[in-house]
Amino acid sequence: MLDRREELTPMLAQYVDVAERYDDAVVLFRVGDFYKAFCEAADEVARICELTRIEREDSTGTYTACGIPVDNAPKYLKRLLDAEYRVAVADQVEDPEEASGLVERAVTQVLTPGTVVEEELLAAGSNTYVACVATAAGGSEKESEGNPAYGVAHVDVSTGECAVTAGDAAAVDEELARIGPAELLCGPGVDPAVVDGADCMRTERDPETFEPDAARAVLDRYAESERFDAAERVAAGALLSYAEYTQGDDGPLEYVRRVRRYDPRRSLRLDATALRGLELFENHVGSGRTLFDTIDETRSALGRRRLRAWLRRPLVDREAIEARHDAVAAFAERTLVREDVREALSAAYDLERLAGRISRGRADARDLRSLHDTLAAVPAIRDAVADVEALAEVRADLDPLDDLRELIDAAVVEEPPQEITDGGVIRAGYDDELDEVRSTAREGREWIANLEERERERTGIDNLEVGYTQVHGYFIEVTNGQLDRVPDDYTRRQTLKNSERFYTPELKRREDEILGAEERADAMEYELFADLRDRVAEESDRIGALADAVARVDALSALATAAVERDYVRPEIVAGADATGGDTGDNDDGIHLKRSRHPVVEETEPEFVPNDADLPRGTVALITGPNMSGKSTYMRQVALAVVLSQAGSFVPAETARLPVVDRVFTRVGASDDIAGGESTFMREMRELTDVLHDATGDSLVLLDEVGRGTSTTDGRAIARAAVEFLHDEAGATTLFATHYHELTDLADEHDRVVNRHFAATERDGEVTFLHRIREGAASSSYGVEVADLAGVPDSVVARAHDLVAADRSDAGDRSAAGDDTVEATPQRTLDEIATNGHDTSSPPAASGSPRHDPAVAGLLTDLRDLSLAETTPLEALNSLHEFQRRAEEAGDVNRDGYDDDGAVPGGGGQ
Ligand code: ADP
Ligand code: MG
Repeated sequence: MLDRREELTPMLAQYVDVAERYDDAVVLFRVGDFYKAFCEAADEVARICELTRIEREDSTGTYTACGIPVDNAPKYLKRLLDAEYRVAVADQVEDPEEASGLVERAVTQVLTPGTVVEEELLAAGSNTYVACVATAAGGSEKESEGNPAYGVAHVDVSTGECAVTAGDAAAVDEELARIGPAELLCGPGVDPAVVDGADCMRTERDPETFEPDAARAVLDRYAESERFDAAERVAAGALLSYAEYTQGDDGPLEYVRRVRRYDPRRSLRLDATALRGLELFENHVGSGRTLFDTIDETRSALGRRRLRAWLRRPLVDREAIEARHDAVAAFAERTLVREDVREALSAAYDLERLAGRISRGRADARDLRSLHDTLAAVPAIRDAVADVEALAEVRADLDPLDDLRELIDAAVVEEPPQEITDGGVIRAGYDDELDEVRSTAREGREWIANLEERERERTGIDNLEVGYTQVHGYFIEVTNGQLDRVPDDYTRRQTLKNSERFYTPELKRREDEILGAEERADAMEYELFADLRDRVAEESDRIGALADAVARVDALSALATAAVERDYVRPEIVAGADATGGDTGDNDDGIHLKRSRHPVVEETEPEFVPNDADLPRGTVALITGPNMSGKSTYMRQVALAVVLSQAGSFVPAETARLPVVDRVFTRVGASDDIAGGESTFMREMRELTDVLHDATGDSLVLLDEVGRGTSTTDGRAIARAAVEFLHDEAGATTLFATHYHELTDLADEHDRVVNRHFAATERDGEVTFLHRIREGAASSSYGVEVADLAGVPDSVVARAHDLVAADRSDAGDRSAAGDDTVEATPQRTLDEIATNGHDTSSPPAASGSPRHDPAVAGLLTDLRDLSLAETTPLEALNSLHEFQRRAEEAGDVNRDGYDDDGAVPGGGGQ
């Protein structure tokens, strides 16, 4: 079709022209009340938007067309953006009525997933970022030496937030995971593997925009380029050039007021794997709830974005963390203050995006009114926090911008119309000239209103009427029977069936005056409005500062609300190992949580069992126990407590003493990886490599069944080596859930390795998990025990115990006690003695060991599971009685020796 362009209809030719210029976008063409797409584009648009395709025919053949109704455009545009299309909107840029032939059209907007600014197309409570990764050379060879390899920049075009950093390939991966861009630009020379992890749309840009000089020239419009690294300059400059392009290319984006340069190491580092593993923002299985959803009690979009950012980049500065805790505590302790603030916040509109629209010249009168209403809510917030010491700083930033609010209020009516070109926007009394023009129009209308009365009197025609039509304007109507009484100065305007319509010179004059005045008034209003908008735009720094304060107040009071409603506690932040002062003296700078809970799991698990965590700095806790016993949950709740604490939040526990952690690592063994698809052993090992390279004594490492993706022997060996390394070299505080029970003997050889376990029990014929963490290792054959509890026939259970024992002796005697089932901790509690006590004295293979008698095992488990803290004396007595009865029965069974059918209760295998 393209080679026969001269044969196309003029409009289609125009379309093809535009489509060629915007060949990376779907071009939508304004035709009447539709945005139309043609040919292949029509097929795609129709498919994605579920619209009807229309077959058209012309001399070149048939082609498809499809149209998006303009009134409903956002809905369809959103679908296209979600499907990762760029959309170029070509609007009519001349009045169709004045066009002499084909209406001129031009692209007025390029919408892309990462750069949209339309309210309807954006998620309110989260940022939409476009990011850019570039090398210092930006394609040319100079300038790269000695600098960090990559610059990473991101911008939210709707709010103007823009920031940049630099680092190596791993840092790029980590940053992209945290930014979560909707769209990504890559400079020439960026190894595709570096940005492999970013799951978003890629946008190609002209390599020239990555030239160091070109990028610098763009960045100069926003910031002092000298402050940045070479790679940062290229990334930020190229990114801003793209942002300008998508916003119509008419100069710098005024509302990007600052290009922040940041160091990712100044926040708690969470890489992609950790963000995913801890389900901070994304959930892979089950409930669909994330940590963010759970604690998000914000009242404004502004606050919601802020809280998200806090959770994404928790702090590592102890003072800053404690300052947030102070503020949260202040809100948590003062219910009234908190409620007043939150009520006021509910009236707040999205100041950042409002400011963005105002600066872009896209705000309408309602937006200014929204700004006004938001400013009007500020004094209430400020007053509510007036006497709270911990909130003094944020209070100081809550400037209600009275001058601005009064200005808007004086200018704009309370409920302005959507359109800013049709008048009705500006208040009376705001502008003398406008008032005068309006009064001219009003007087004219009054004169006309009285005309009927006057003309009836003058002419004696008592059914004479004055009216108005859009086409003919004002008229005086006289019925046919009265026509002979019409005076000379009446001129005929229109003849109807039963009447004639007239006008007089004076009426005509008045009419012109009214219409002229109204038109002028509308134009004046528009001008006054645009002026006002510019004046407000000049205040965008002050609005930005206020937005920042409102966002903080919202996020802080939200954290306090979450803390109160969910019963979280303020963590005490312990001094770091090298910190002077504030040291507690006992040198106990580890993680200490009493009765901690998993913030997300506890929401859906009404019987959530709290657990303690005592992990002095550098502890490696090996956590064993059957599947589904609670290992993963426990490890994550410890990590989430750390993340929450450093984000400024209280934590779900009864008491909490927490250190400042530099990084949280989570690695989930391949077979346990729920992300699916890409989970291979190779990836598991690659992730483990990162941990081993980067973990420090200040890090918290979670390893969940690592080593599972390969053979048992290899996996066990890798797991053992990794633990030894983390303990001896990295010194990282580590939680390692493992089914390699053999690892638990590491506790004997290493100071800081401890064993913990989760156990299962049987109740009412079903295996249940107690979800309670205990000291020591689980019995090595807990798998067999669960099989037993679940009702697997005794003979099979016995045989399995045999095999386990045989395997143990084959594997050699690594454990100091010569038996892996031995508890590793010296202080043994009643329940541990109950579960495993016999093992110490009698080898598991011993015939007739009571531990392998199902009745005894069941009894012991139940005894162990009896929670004394939750048992009344009477219940305890009853339980004791019941236990006694069962013990007697078990004894009988043993005496009876039901092994005459071949089952060997002791599993001795003789
Ligand atoms: P594991 O890692 O040992 O296989 P999980 O941690 O995945 O076990 O826990 C399995 C399930 O048990 C969870 O989905 C949760 O519903 C429940 N669970 C875990 N810990 C607790 C707890 N402390 N209290 C109550 N239920 C829990
Ligand atoms: Mg698990």
